[in-house]
Amino acid sequence: MLLLIDCTATDTSHPLDLSWLAHKHPDRAQDFTLSQGTARVFYPHCDAQRCTLALQVEVDPVALSRSSSHRGTTPLEPYVNDRPYVSSSMLSTAIAQVLGSALNGRCDKRPELVDRPLRLRAVLPVVPSRGGDSLVHKLFAPLGYTVRATRLSLDDRFTEWGDSPYFSLELSATITLRALLEHLYVLLPVLDDAQHYWVGEGEVDKLLRKGERWLADHPERALVAARFLKHQRALKDLALARLDEDGSPEPATEDDSEREVEQRWKRSEKSDRIPLDAQRREWVRDVLAAHGARRVVDLGCGEGKLVTYLAQHSQVAHITGVDVSPACLEIAQKRADKLGPSQRERVALIQGSLVYRDARLQGFDAATLIEVIEHVEPERLPWLEDAVFAVARAPLVLVSTPNREANAAMPGLSPGAMRHSDHRFEWDRATFRAWSDRVAKEHGYTVTFADVGESHPEYGPPTQSAIFTRGTAQRANANANEERAV
Ligand code: SAH
Repeated sequence: MLLLIDCTATDTSHPLDLSWLAHKHPDRAQDFTLSQGTARVFYPHCDAQRCTLALQVEVDPVALSRSSSHRGTTPLEPYVNDRPYVSSSMLSTAIAQVLGSALNGRCDKRPELVDRPLRLRAVLPVVPSRGGDSLVHKLFAPLGYTVRATRLSLDDRFTEWGDSPYFSLELSATITLRALLEHLYVLLPVLDDAQHYWVGEGEVDKLLRKGERWLADHPERALVAARFLKHQRALKDLALARLDEDGSPEPATEDDSEREVEQRWKRSEKSDRIPLDAQRREWVRDVLAAHGARRVVDLGCGEGKLVTYLAQHSQVAHITGVDVSPACLEIAQKRADKLGPSQRERVALIQGSLVYRDARLQGFDAATLIEVIEHVEPERLPWLEDAVFAVARAPLVLVSTPNREANAAMPGLSPGAMRHSDHRFEWDRATFRAWSDRVAKEHGYTVTFADVGESHPEYGPPTQSAIFTRGTAQRANANANEERAV
């Protein structure tokens, strides 16, 4: 893969400023060893008008195949893939290793150059973009670049094969070298949006350090944070909360996009319909009331809508909301602070992860898991089952999740798409029932099912839910069912 950076003379800058800032001598080619290959820096062109720096990266496919971060989905994929040829996170790593001083704004010999805007042009021959050229423009244009993105065909000799997902990209601006490198460092992996590896909180620090001077004001900052942090919602929320520490308004969360999908569906049906999330809250309230549950824990409480709703119903004496995301809890806290004093007293909010055993979740009459399980990686779901059904073990557990079959009736959702970018899965009714039956059996619960929202004759309800009971709650559930039958 290759990155070319051109610097053209202006009244206030000389093309060789580029070589000072890059800490690389224009007459030499230099090689560097990277963890997954080698990099070479050289200057294919250098005169009084224009200086071009080339960073060429050769990826070693064997080293790549051994790295745990690139296991791939098929046995061959670690060996045969696009990674050595396209500009993605590996180019970011190479920039950090080979042009680290420039990226971090250090130039001991000519410190005055660090903040000097230069007339720069970056050329990247092959850039993967999940989101096409419109995303390329959305990401780079707000930063002041003139953007030229040209889609590459799959193979020039076989035009009938159509286009590839790759673009050749040229970005031009009068900008500091540091800013250009920061933008590439963050936005190349964002464009690529590879799903291959797990990231930790260290990546939030990286994003915030490299984005310190520009990300807070970027119109696509929520998308940038989500993709850079590999769609780990808790990390994305943390990053956005830290970007917001200066008090700017709350970012639009991806929850809004989910509500939007469901609301479009609602509008397309009957205009007087109650929103689906409100119908879920009413359903929860009714089931809790039928069981006389007074102490409730809302697991994955998000922004606290259910928590504050239940606090306004005196049937519930206490409600604790639990979520892994500090940003969501902060919003929930603001919502709770708006309640009257006696309602406010009923509410507690705690941070916690549902995939870990947690004694704080014990001793409640009921636990609610509303639109949460689909946000958990399938391989971690058994840990959630253990934490909720074996350890917290409330006598009544309510679980709701989207019914995938009903997506077909939701306008604006392309076939096969999920309702929310953070969903790890969406189950059809049979899968949800099988999961619920197994969990109930393994943990000594009885389970019944309920539809939430208007049921489509073929696809079923938009939200499917299960009521798990054990012990006395089980008898109460039987009584409640009998009453309804009467
Ligand atoms: N129950 C709320 C929010 C649903 S969104 C509602 O109905 O509106 C899913 C929520 O689950 C998010 O707030 C997310 O932060 C939280 N979540 C996801 N994984 C979690 C985990 N492992 N532990 C705790 N909360 C989690």
